[in-house]
Amino acid sequence: MRTCASCPATRLAGSVSFTAQGSLLRAQGAKPLAASVTLEGDYEVTMQGRAAMHSRFPATLRARDGRVRLVLRIPLENYVVLALAGESADSSSDAALQAMAVAVRSFAVSIAAAGKRHAAEGFDLCDSTHCQLLRFDDLAPPRLRAAAEATTGELLWYRGEPATAYYSRNCAGTTEDAARLWPDIVAPYLRSHPDPYCLVHGREEWSVAIGKDELAGALRDAGVAGAGNRISSLRILGRTPSGRVARIEIDGASSRVMSGEQFRTALGRVPGIERLPSNAFEVSDAGERLIFHGNGAGHGAGLCQAGAEEMGAEGKSYREILAFYYPGTTVGLTAQGLAWVRLGGEGLDLLTTRPDADGALLPRAERLLHAAEAVAGWSLATRPELRVYPSVRVYRNATGEPGWVAASTRGRVVRMEPQEALRAAGALDSTLRHEFLHLLVEGRARAEVPLWFREGLVLYLSGEDVTPANADAAAGRVDFASLERALAAPVSAAAQRSAYRRAQRAVAGLVEARGRAEVLSWLERGLPANLTASQ
Ligand SMILES: [Zn+2]
Ligand SMILES: [Zn+2]
Repeated sequence: MRTCASCPATRLAGSVSFTAQGSLLRAQGAKPLAASVTLEGDYEVTMQGRAAMHSRFPATLRARDGRVRLVLRIPLENYVVLALAGESADSSSDAALQAMAVAVRSFAVSIAAAGKRHAAEGFDLCDSTHCQLLRFDDLAPPRLRAAAEATTGELLWYRGEPATAYYSRNCAGTTEDAARLWPDIVAPYLRSHPDPYCLVHGREEWSVAIGKDELAGALRDAGVAGAGNRISSLRILGRTPSGRVARIEIDGASSRVMSGEQFRTALGRVPGIERLPSNAFEVSDAGERLIFHGNGAGHGAGLCQAGAEEMGAEGKSYREILAFYYPGTTVGLTAQGLAWVRLGGEGLDLLTTRPDADGALLPRAERLLHAAEAVAGWSLATRPELRVYPSVRVYRNATGEPGWVAASTRGRVVRMEPQEALRAAGALDSTLRHEFLHLLVEGRARAEVPLWFREGLVLYLSGEDVTPANADAAAGRVDFASLERALAAPVSAAAQRSAYRRAQRAVAGLVEARGRAEVLSWLERGLPANLTASQ
């Protein structure tokens, strides 16, 4: 346990209990009050009203408004297993579990990226059904772990962004349009559609009776104003196209109209009152009590877990399950589903999702490509493609490149961040020149030509930031093996810049010692033995 980032760690023997005093924490038996406490190692936490939680994830305890908050830092793949344990433990189909693994992972990534739900409270996701229910259980069935592993890192993508993959227990034959439940959601993959799969086992009918006084009290407890002490009647005012309650009127001392989802969630927050499993229900008045008859369970948007189970039992794969419940999305490790428009130029194709904004980039790119060909003295054998991503986030999602890499080249494809981002950094032309030189160099290089030579040659040809040549490389005093490692997996922007400079200097030194024509010819002939021996 530490009470500040630079404080020494205290080994906890036995248990310590924490209480909150305003925004300060007090550890029982200890005098000092701290704003936060971090926990490392293996520990168990017990909190009022819930089972003991065993964890090895780094944790921070904070006090807020007289309550203690525990925030865990959980790697995504571990999170997926905890969420499967909370949301899908009773699943018996491996394909359905794998589909859920992709859904819970995408949902978490999408919610965290949006930064709306809990960002103001200092964390990404809560551990209740509000976000996704987590279950910390050392004895989680190995099947859950296997489903996460079988889909490691896979997300559902829609137009280059991770999909907000809502799911629910049982849609009873028709999934719900998410925009009906949460009007601010724009997710065309969450539209209402028939689900023949869950219907195989019936509509899962239910009925719940709630006393009128009890209901009034529950709504009051849930912070719904105007319900008064007594409810005289409930009226369903409208239904969504899928048949779920859209609006409901509560008459009592005064009258109040709520959305079906607000009504159901308000009741769900009150302990001791029976929950309504879904808002696909009818209400009847039985004097002192109201009887709710309904079917299905959950909000009904996105994947239907009962239907996914049936699809799995019928031999469908997790990809087929995801395609059925989230139409229009694509499963993959990196951003998929961008609506590319191809603009053909004389010497290259420009692919963009915003042709109006990026059209003017095409002549500029052509000019820079010709200049690169002139500098190298070669021309490209294949027609290159320049892909301009619509945002830095989508670029990173799609390419897996770290934040400090503005563009990259794979085969004949140059991929770049939006031109606005590069312009702002004053790096649009230099970035394109660099990548086009890579196309030329990669197009000629034999497979075994090392990275440091390719990168150094591109930098040398680009003529930028010319560093004084030195004879290190020619004399074999450069540690090429470590330079190669630094270029293959740079750990930071600074490390990459430094490796670039070393590679550039090495090639410049070689050109000075052996002549430009000979050094360029090594791309096709391979490097002399004295330069490759140290790798
Ligand atoms: Zn939440
Ligand atoms: Zn269903």
